[in-house]
Amino acid sequence: MPVELYTPVQAKFEASRCLMCSNAPCACDCPAGVDARAFIRKIRFDNLDGAARMLRSCNVLADSCSYICPTGALCGKECSAEGLGRPIDISALQRFVMEHERGSGMIEPLRSNGSGARVAVVGAGPAGLGCAAELAARNHSVTVFERDAYAGGMLKQCIPSFRLPDEVVDFEIEFIKKLGVEFSFNTAVDDPARLISEDFKAVFIATGLDKPRDVEFVGAAMPGVYQALDLLRAAKRGDAVDLGKRAVVIGGGDTALDAARIARHVGCEVLVLYRRTQSEMPAYPEEIDAAWDEGIEFYFRTIVHGVTGGDRVQGVRCVRVRWRDKVPGLPHGYDVDGQEFQIGCDSVIIATGQGPASSFGLRSTPSGMIAVDKSSFATSTPGIFAGGDIAFGGGTAARAVGHGRLAAIAIDEYVRKLG
Ligand SMILES: Cc1cc2nc3c(=O)[nH]c(=O)nc-3n(C[C@H](O)[C@H](O)[C@H](O)COP(=O)(O)OP(=O)(O)OC[C@H]3O[C@@H](n4cnc5c(N)ncnc54)[C@H](O)[C@@H]3O)c2cc1C
Repeated sequence: MPVELYTPVQAKFEASRCLMCSNAPCACDCPAGVDARAFIRKIRFDNLDGAARMLRSCNVLADSCSYICPTGALCGKECSAEGLGRPIDISALQRFVMEHERGSGMIEPLRSNGSGARVAVVGAGPAGLGCAAELAARNHSVTVFERDAYAGGMLKQCIPSFRLPDEVVDFEIEFIKKLGVEFSFNTAVDDPARLISEDFKAVFIATGLDKPRDVEFVGAAMPGVYQALDLLRAAKRGDAVDLGKRAVVIGGGDTALDAARIARHVGCEVLVLYRRTQSEMPAYPEEIDAAWDEGIEFYFRTIVHGVTGGDRVQGVRCVRVRWRDKVPGLPHGYDVDGQEFQIGCDSVIIATGQGPASSFGLRSTPSGMIAVDKSSFATSTPGIFAGGDIAFGGGTAARAVGHGRLAAIAIDEYVRKLG
């Protein structure tokens, strides 16, 4: 599905549909804190530079987010224009503004003079980048330590380029570098507390979630079984992966659907097996529609018992299930509906979720995330803050950037108090 890029005339028409609600419900639902009504007003008055500056100031990854934000579940859901036919296409307008910024030469960011404190950021994904940009804008001297050889986190490592072009993310990272943020690539941090003793006044941890959850069925280690994130990373690198003619994907989130679409794009017949119903899939409806449109098939209420084959995958054994009504306080149980059956396939892609690789010895939640104060993002250790997926579980890029920015404001306050 090609991404829609407005012409100036289309953008003006769409902006003119905005009702300019006094309570701006769209703004309340943006996890990055973007006031859509305010930047749309600037489009109406042809002030595209002003609109771009406004967007960048609260979301330094505004262009990337305009490609991948699930607006139907966020700002678009609350848009009052829905009552008059359809909501304003806020992401298309945001993309139009940021496209203007890229095309017209970069709006020069104000470079940090580094007069503030030295702060370390661990992880160069959306949360780390949002934090680094805001700290630099507040004149702190920021170093981002990134395990990988480049910045962008999941946006560059896994989200397919047909959904988010690499050059869009690269432009935004250049913008952040121009703010004066320093990057130390190929540097995995295993002890953030040590950075404090190395003369950093504070540390922000934003290492995301990339450790696949353990799967319980037999044959999960057989050749031809792939972890979805490994497959997505390989596709981003342009590496060839042999999926055969038929691929089965297990899971129902965005990662499952991105992996399914990658398999489809290399010519596979693809079947997605999800344990619950379509309406319970965690993937956003836009992604589910795109998968259907590309000819990907689904079996719902299907649980995999094992992978069959020997030297190579030959199929999966599964059962259909019927979920019982939810009882508060009890795990959601199911009954098996019929006999076990087999589905023949050449490869199996596991996308059943991921968790944190490490919580760095900090106090963590029962699900393994780093425990933080929800307003200051402070962890149990003074001077160490955390945000994005590693602290709040899997979410959106916009939420991660928003966390990073809010954490930077709290870190700014913290280091000022240190004097
Ligand atoms: C396949 C897929 C599709 C998605 N689709 C969407 C979508 O359509 N829309 C949307 O809004 N969101 C989507 N998301 C979710 C979104 O990408 C994440 O919510 C977001 O990237 C989280 O940002 P983060 O900064 O917390 O973590 P990440 O993006 O995971 O970044 C963490 C960074 O930390 C680095 N790192 C890890 N450990 C260390 C260490 N010890 N030392 C140094 N660096 C380290 C990693 O290399 C990485 O660069 C998707 C995610 C995936 C996996």
